[in-house]
Amino acid sequence: MKNERVITNEINSINNTLDLEKKNNCLACKNEKIISRDTIVTGFLSERIFGITDGSLIPVKIYYCTNCGFTSYDRRLSENEEKKLYSGYRSEEYQLMRQKYEEFYTKDFNYLLGHDEKGLQAKESLLSEILIKHIHNHIYNGLDYGGDLGQRYPQNFPIDNKYVYDISGVKPLEGIISLASYDMAKTIDFDFIMCNHTLEHIADLDSFIELVKGLGNINTWFYFEVPFDSPFYPWSPEKRIRNQFTLQLQRMKRYLYLRLEKVGTILAKRGHYFCQMHEHVNFFTPYALKEFLERHDFKIYFNEVNITDGNLGKVRLISILCKLNQ
Ligand SMILES: [Zn+2]
Repeated sequence: MKNERVITNEINSINNTLDLEKKNNCLACKNEKIISRDTIVTGFLSERIFGITDGSLIPVKIYYCTNCGFTSYDRRLSENEEKKLYSGYRSEEYQLMRQKYEEFYTKDFNYLLGHDEKGLQAKESLLSEILIKHIHNHIYNGLDYGGDLGQRYPQNFPIDNKYVYDISGVKPLEGIISLASYDMAKTIDFDFIMCNHTLEHIADLDSFIELVKGLGNINTWFYFEVPFDSPFYPWSPEKRIRNQFTLQLQRMKRYLYLRLEKVGTILAKRGHYFCQMHEHVNFFTPYALKEFLERHDFKIYFNEVNITDGNLGKVRLISILCKLNQ
């Protein structure tokens, strides 16, 4: 009996070791050629998730896949940790804590992020355009997975019933039907499922995409949209501002970033503590997102990068329209 336990422990220990090694594979394309660099978790995340207020650092590694360009961190948040980060997302308490570490994150800035009408409109017309061009069958039931208030539904593309499934439980906009649980969503046949600006936040990508997939069938159109950004040369205004204000020690590299992107990138890859782990834990390239979705049995019909303009400047987006393999 005792020996059995020892052997079981040994096997568990080997499995754990293998698991760790597996984590070194690219989470998007599973390639093993990963470059890693030491960095830390941002001060804001350290307090919000781990309750650290004494300035102690949480070391993590940033991973860059040499095959598909996907960038992520080795420290993946547990479900509970994700909950701590995202419950009360952008509330007053969230904003105040974040401003403690990131001076630019004022009340006004926080409001602007949640009420970027200009950006929303630009994204809406982009999505309308893509759907009108590529989807020629009638859509009876649409789902916005993780869609907050359902504000991403395009105006010019007809969808009979517009559902939203979001764990935040917020009251959706007029005309949008909120689904309180995943099981409830399972009872509906969806012709169209979209998932916007979510994948970049998800710790367990494989499990998450299986959940999204589980609500569709071989006739369902899936639309995924993520920012096309990189911690090595940030494109989104939010990250640019964050870097400017919070990483003051890196000012010289920042200067190079803006002027000599390539040199800045090389320095950034070498510099410790540069690309700190924040809310975006995954950075896709169009190729990485394609590889990731294909690995999960999706057939890609459309994959494009577009730039939209919003209150906070221009944003670069990856849009993918796909279906499950027959
Ligand atoms: Zn990869």
